[in-house]
Amino acid sequence: MNPRPAKVATPFDVQRQGLVEVLRSRGITDEGVLQAINTVPREVFVPPAMSGRAYEDSALPIDNRQTISQPYTVAFMTQSLKVTRGMRVLEIGTGSGYQAAVLAQMGASVVTIERHPLLSQKARTALADFGYTVQCRIGDGTIGFREGGPYEGIIVTAGAPDVPEPLAKQLSIGGRLVVPVGSLENQTLYRVVRTAEDSWKAEDLGPFKFVPLIGRSGWDDASAA
Ligand code: SAM
Repeated sequence: MNPRPAKVATPFDVQRQGLVEVLRSRGITDEGVLQAINTVPREVFVPPAMSGRAYEDSALPIDNRQTISQPYTVAFMTQSLKVTRGMRVLEIGTGSGYQAAVLAQMGASVVTIERHPLLSQKARTALADFGYTVQCRIGDGTIGFREGGPYEGIIVTAGAPDVPEPLAKQLSIGGRLVVPVGSLENQTLYRVVRTAEDSWKAEDLGPFKFVPLIGRSGWDDASAA
C-alpha cells in the first residue's frame, strides 16, 4: 500500500501563513478569522499582474478604479462582525470577492452586492472556481436586499456619508452592521447593533479609509468623482 504523499506547501501557502502572523501581531485575535485568511487564496482575487503582491498587508487596485481591501481591514471588519457558522450576512461592495470568500470560508451564508457589473461577474467566477457558494447581486447596495433578510450581519466595504437607514432596518434584532462613516477622505468604522425593533446602538471602532459608497443612501456619483 502506498502512503498518501504529504501536501507540499507552495510559495503562496508560505506567504499566506506569513500574512496571518502579521495580522496576529497587529491585534487580530479571532482564530476563526485567522484560519479563514490562512485558507482563502488571495492571489486569485487580485489582478494576475499583482499576484506577487497578494500577501502584502495592503490594498491593491482592481478594475473600475476600485480596490481589494487591505487584509488587516478585512480581518478587523470580519472580527468586528462576530461571524458564526450559518450566520446570514449581507456584504455591500463585492469588489474582488475576497471579503465574501473569507465570510463563506467561516461558514456564513453570504449575499453580496456590487454596483459595477464587471467586478461582480469576475468575483462570481473566482468564488465559484473555489467552491464558495455566495449569492452575487448587481445593483445599489445602499438599499440592501430586503427579500434576503433579515440579516444577523451586514458589512459595508465602502465609506458612507451616514449609516444607510435601509441597511440598519434589514438587521435582525441583535444583528450587527459594520460600516465606515465619514467624509470622502476619512471615515470612522462603526458597529451598529439593533437592540430592539426601533432601537440601535453604535460603537466607534476607530479610523479607516475606504473608497466611496455611491448610491441612493450613499454619495452621489458626481460628488465622489
Ligand atoms: N469587499 C471588496 C473585496 O473584498 O475586494 C473590496 C471592496 S472595495 C474597497 C468597495 C466596493 O464597493 C467597490 O467595488 C465599489 O464599486 C463598491 N460599491 C460602492 N458603492 C456601492 C453600492 N452602492 N452598492 C454596491 N457596491 C458599491
